Amino acid sequence: MSMDAKNIMDDANMPASIADMIERYERLMEISRQLNSTLDLASLLRKIISAAKGLTQCEAASILLIDPATGELRFEIASNIKSQDMDNIVVPLDSIAGWVVTHGEPRVIDDVTREPSWSKRVDDTIEFQTRSLLAVPMRAHNKVIGVLESVNKIGGQRFDENDINTLTTLASQAAIAIENARLFQQSDFIAEMVHELRTPLASLKASTVLLKRPDLPKERQGDIVDMMQGETERLIRLTSEFLDLARLESGRTRLDISRFDLHALIVESADVVIPQANEKGITISTKGDKLIASADRGKIKQVLLNLLTNAIKYNKDNGEVIIVTSQTQVDGEPFIRMDVTDTGYGISKENQKRMFQKFYRVADTASKSQGTGLGLTIAKHIVEAHEGTITLESELGVGSTFSVTMPMAKK
Ligand code: ADP
Repeated sequence: MSMDAKNIMDDANMPASIADMIERYERLMEISRQLNSTLDLASLLRKIISAAKGLTQCEAASILLIDPATGELRFEIASNIKSQDMDNIVVPLDSIAGWVVTHGEPRVIDDVTREPSWSKRVDDTIEFQTRSLLAVPMRAHNKVIGVLESVNKIGGQRFDENDINTLTTLASQAAIAIENARLFQQSDFIAEMVHELRTPLASLKASTVLLKRPDLPKERQGDIVDMMQGETERLIRLTSEFLDLARLESGRTRLDISRFDLHALIVESADVVIPQANEKGITISTKGDKLIASADRGKIKQVLLNLLTNAIKYNKDNGEVIIVTSQTQVDGEPFIRMDVTDTGYGISKENQKRMFQKFYRVADTASKSQGTGLGLTIAKHIVEAHEGTITLESELGVGSTFSVTMPMAKK
């Protein structure tokens, strides 16, 4: 509390509600300063919910954001939900939070059990009992990007007008800070991209200088031209993968869902990489259930091609690649599972954590093969846009298995 607010509160004639308002205002100003100075999205989200809890004196707080890729409303962070549970909850638009998004207005529910649009499913999933709820829209640049919620006012009290105003102000400041953090992530990506482009460009430049030298032995010319061809191909791959990823991240990619024979797609993808496999004497085999998938066929092919190319590139000579398809269940829903296993170099525990990050390449293996470090990041985005997951199990020197799961049918 600042000195001014304290002095005002010490004034015996000051009604308690005004003193409370001033105190909240002071704290909001302080929080706003903190939010504006945070560009790391995860820590920003943590600060927002802790501010929401403190300002409205409630048991839990959460942020739901509209997924730019799918338009779905999802929990981004919640003080009472574990992150692995959160990934599986899509909040329907006819829920209370959905109402706040579509109407762009706050909503107070004193007793959720009397509210027909209250979805108990979330409470059941997270084993939490919601009693009262205050949900306000998060608006940035005149667009609702999500919902900020305070849950269960402490002491069984009701959320009042003061709470609504405070949370609404916090939500609009938080929305702008989130947009800024997202933009920063994007500009960071551009900076990294430019950095990545410089390496092949620099080696192309050095090659042209060499080629122009009159004293260059004739037999060296062929090597240099081959190298230039490799670098040019890498530049082309980098730019097209960069565009793919930028589209996926900005939500401009729409899924074109159809039903198709997954086994046929796997065989078709394996056919594309067979020449590469043959060069290293690697065999590719498929096993498992013949399943019908409902997904974006072209994008799933892109994922498979990335996993298969990696399984060959980072494999030993005369190694093996096996693709296994199976049916599994996630939260009682039927899911498809595809495991791509190789007998290659494997990935250390330390590196496994960073595998799906942009431009990340393991130093030892990267030198053995050309690549961009974007393939797995793109694959993860595609699988997650299908409400699926991509995971990795690997042992150094033995090999790796990349597993993709996704719902049997995309809702
Ligand atoms: P790229 O292959 O173009 O470098 P990816 O995003 O597809 O980019 O892969 C990132 C990095 O992960 C690779 O550079 C490589 O170091 C490592 N990697 C990927 N797949 C495998 C695999 N099957 N076995 C071992 N290492 C792998």
